[in-house]
Amino acid sequence: MTHPAATSAPGRLALAERFLHYAPAPESRSIVDIRPAYGLFIDGAFVEGDGERFSTINPADEKVLAEVTSANAADVDRAVVAARRASERVWSATPGTERAKYLFRIARLIQERGRELAVLETLDNGKPIKESRDFDVPAAAAHFFYYAGWADKLEYAGYGPTVRPRGVVGQVIPWNFPLLMLAWKIAPALATGNTVVLKPAETTPLSALLFAEICQQADLPPGVVNILTGAGETGRLLVEHEGIDKVAFTGSTQVGKAIARAIAGTGTGLTLELGGKAANIVYDDAPIDETVEGIVNGIFFNQGHVCCAGSRLLVQESIAEEVVERLQRRLSTLRLGDPLDKNTDIGAINSQAQLDRIRELTAAGEAEGAQRWSATCELPERGYWFAPTVFTDVSQAHRIASEEVFGPVLSVLTFRTPDEAIAKANNTPYGLSAGIWTDKGSRILWTADRLRAGVVWANTFNQFDPSSPFGGYKESGYGREGGRHGLEPYLALATEVDAA
Ligand code: NAP
Ligand code: MG
Repeated sequence: MTHPAATSAPGRLALAERFLHYAPAPESRSIVDIRPAYGLFIDGAFVEGDGERFSTINPADEKVLAEVTSANAADVDRAVVAARRASERVWSATPGTERAKYLFRIARLIQERGRELAVLETLDNGKPIKESRDFDVPAAAAHFFYYAGWADKLEYAGYGPTVRPRGVVGQVIPWNFPLLMLAWKIAPALATGNTVVLKPAETTPLSALLFAEICQQADLPPGVVNILTGAGETGRLLVEHEGIDKVAFTGSTQVGKAIARAIAGTGTGLTLELGGKAANIVYDDAPIDETVEGIVNGIFFNQGHVCCAGSRLLVQESIAEEVVERLQRRLSTLRLGDPLDKNTDIGAINSQAQLDRIRELTAAGEAEGAQRWSATCELPERGYWFAPTVFTDVSQAHRIASEEVFGPVLSVLTFRTPDEAIAKANNTPYGLSAGIWTDKGSRILWTADRLRAGVVWANTFNQFDPSSPFGGYKESGYGREGGRHGLEPYLALATEVDAA
């Protein structure tokens, strides 16, 4: 029998509020043993660095998790020398079949220590445990499994029979997917016979330090992987070090450009994975319920700290009102709070600096005349939080339509014709990703053909697979990571070898 209250919409909502109450379900943090202080991982061992210490905090409560070391110039030098030695004496001469075994072992250890990694990632980053547990950690393991498969087949990858590693690779990664970005960087580098010096982001160093332990556990030869913690200056020292043969960077366009300028003319290889401002295009024939779920996944996954987030919703005018209304209703059901709670959908913003940036850009959105709507949810007193927010009446000139917010903020624009959708979608300095929602396959192909974006998702969003290349156009960077294409930047190809 239908409950009388369930026959009206407000009644249904009140009922849902009464019965769909979630009791707290926190994941235990006892599985993780966080040390009070960490050194640097150089040449297979944790060593004291020469630089200063800084603390990494849990952005959900602002409590200090551990002290870590800021690697200085002497530390960077030590790590690069260790990586060079490992490259020349051990790793480049290790057959692909053997390298594959190490990668495979690392992948298995990531799985075995999956809960530990997930809890640690959530503590250090602020992302919901259900995301670190069900996405970040399995995807990181999958990358190592995938590239383990390539290690002994490089001569069949389409880059000629005489492929060689480049040598020593310097890698710098951001804070939004600390372990996964590490996997994207380290797995293809090791598979192709390179050695690595990697710097995680200042606010999220802990999963990289646990990964260093995993390298020890896997008996990886000393010096093959080196982890240097530190801030931007450590990253700069690393990428500009003359002992580095190739740089792989993921982060902001601004820093990417500075790196490109700094190493121009040195012969050092460079791939850049930078920011984005993706258009998520919804045609009037799209299945609305699925589309709303896709929009939510596109921009509110990982608090919107996603370079390829669907941050610009382009919706066909005739259905715009309905889509926005359903979207707001759906957002009102998202649970924001303790990232370690298994029911949490929206975790903490990673840092005070990022929260300030989100606040600045959303204030600019209001000042410029866009309509702001934020989900009503209680924000915890301590920590960095931002409620899911949607801007309507957004014009292309608004800052929230062109600049990357990198937070849980969606800008909604409308269009009347497919041509207008394409023009608006491509009207951005970025070109990392895009989404298309429609009932018609032909319309998907027509649209995808015209979008200047490295990845285009159709009737889905934010899907990743290690076998699929990922990368941008324009200010989103250059080079591809993932798949067969992801091997190329780590190989000295025959033409380059001849020229050298
Ligand atoms: P960021 O400031 O560029 O930082 C990225 C990394 O570079 C961090 O490890 C950072 O150290 C380091 N760094 C800073 N200055 C440096 C320098 N002069 N030389 C070398 N390294 C330096 O970016 P973020 O704010 O951490 O991350 C957010 C940005 O990354 C967003 O714009 C997002 O779109 C982009 N992103 C892109 C992708 C992609 O695949 N395309 C993926 C994720 C994120 P600190 O930690 O000390 O700042
Ligand atoms: Mg932290």
